[in-house]
Amino acid sequence: TKDDVKSFFRRNAFVIFTIAAVIIGIVLGFALRPYKMTYREVKYFSFPGELLMRMLQMLVLPLLVSSLITGMAALDSRASGKMGMRAVVYYMTTTVIAVFIGIVVVLIIHPGKGSKDEFKNQQKIEQVSPADAFLDLIRNMFPPNIVQACTQQFKTQYGTRFVHMKMMVNDTLFVLNGTDGNYVTREEVIPVPGQVNGVNALGLVVFSIGFGLIISNMKEKGQPLRDFFDCLNEAIMRLVAVIMWYAPIGIMFLIAGKIVEMDDITEMGSQLAMYTLTVIIGLAIHAIVVLPTLYFVITRRSPFVFIGGLLQALVTALGTSSSSATLPITFKCLEENNGIDKRVTRFVLPVGATINMDGTALYEALAALFIAQVNNIDMNFGQILTISITATAASIGAAGIPQAGLVTMVIVLTSVGLPTDDISLIIAVDWFLDRLRTMTNVLGDSIGAGIVEHLSRHELQSKDAEMGNSVVEE
Ligand code: ASP
Repeated sequence: TKDDVKSFFRRNAFVIFTIAAVIIGIVLGFALRPYKMTYREVKYFSFPGELLMRMLQMLVLPLLVSSLITGMAALDSRASGKMGMRAVVYYMTTTVIAVFIGIVVVLIIHPGKGSKDEFKNQQKIEQVSPADAFLDLIRNMFPPNIVQACTQQFKTQYGTRFVHMKMMVNDTLFVLNGTDGNYVTREEVIPVPGQVNGVNALGLVVFSIGFGLIISNMKEKGQPLRDFFDCLNEAIMRLVAVIMWYAPIGIMFLIAGKIVEMDDITEMGSQLAMYTLTVIIGLAIHAIVVLPTLYFVITRRSPFVFIGGLLQALVTALGTSSSSATLPITFKCLEENNGIDKRVTRFVLPVGATINMDGTALYEALAALFIAQVNNIDMNFGQILTISITATAASIGAAGIPQAGLVTMVIVLTSVGLPTDDISLIIAVDWFLDRLRTMTNVLGDSIGAGIVEHLSRHELQSKDAEMGNSVVEE
């Protein structure tokens, strides 16, 4: 009946809008391609998308801090320690599986044919040593100035040894700054540096976890701070709910704008095409087979229903290519559609978005071996092992921002003596693969929240009993 149809639409409004946004975005993008818009016109056209990106990023900082602090403060240190352990074991296990899949598919399919002449975009890349990059990662865990950690660091670090690579691609100067998540592009036409996200998320995560743990041990004295961050978190989540209505429009323009400006795919060389396909296959195995199976085996619940509830987050990841910008939406989807306990999401999601990147790890190992294949360099078992370890580290170090994985790959390549300049060989398709690996990253974090909740149910229940109610809040 009419009422049934109405209520179906009301219940599934977001999903319908979101899917429609993606389809319209793709159609619009291809329809506008023949007009060969200039860079400036493309920027104007995708402006509504840029706004979405900015709105989401606006929320990330207060959301990350308030959810981690309230999350830690809501549990006693034993319970949060156990939950933290489970989350870390999950992050590590799935990342190692992802790296393994990446290595296996690239060795079997063997997309690189030992010749570089098909590639455009060969550029000189400046870099620092892996040791410096590693120290940067540790440095960033302890920001000397917590206020500065929340703001851009581009100006102070540009041109210093913190800049991991600089390159010119199609008249665009890319200044990619690795571990603290600064990524800057400059265009000749509109000379405005577009900072994607200058937040030192890793440093804030470390600080917030420590701070939350301390508050949780402060008994009554800590109550004002607990209330404050709880209230802040609640308010931010309400803002997220508002922005979610705008998200489909933003996503539509982000996707359309990217399709308008992308290079002609028919001009892609066969090695690059095979490489792209290999990455897609690897990510698909991990995201469609491994993670859902793991979820099912551990929780005995349907992974399809779970992923269905996540749809808007996955599409946002596709549109923004940033797992940290997607974080607010991931929270909403998991808590509201999938009913995951807030005490779990508040810890597992922000930490996951910062350090758990299955798609990125898979991609980095795969890409490094592809570059070896293109250069006709055989990798022995020890070198492949080194690649797996550095790819894992690099995925932890990568920020959840567009194309961060490309930057931290410098570490992987350097560790086995592969030419870092060859990162430019794959940059032409990276914007696309980045979107797919970001979806995988978001899926990995979300399934992690589902699994950790299931494993922690006893502690959560006994905490509820202790508090004398069944739900901690609301
Ligand atoms: N863009 C990815 C993310 O935000 C990171 C990457 O470049 O691999 O999750």
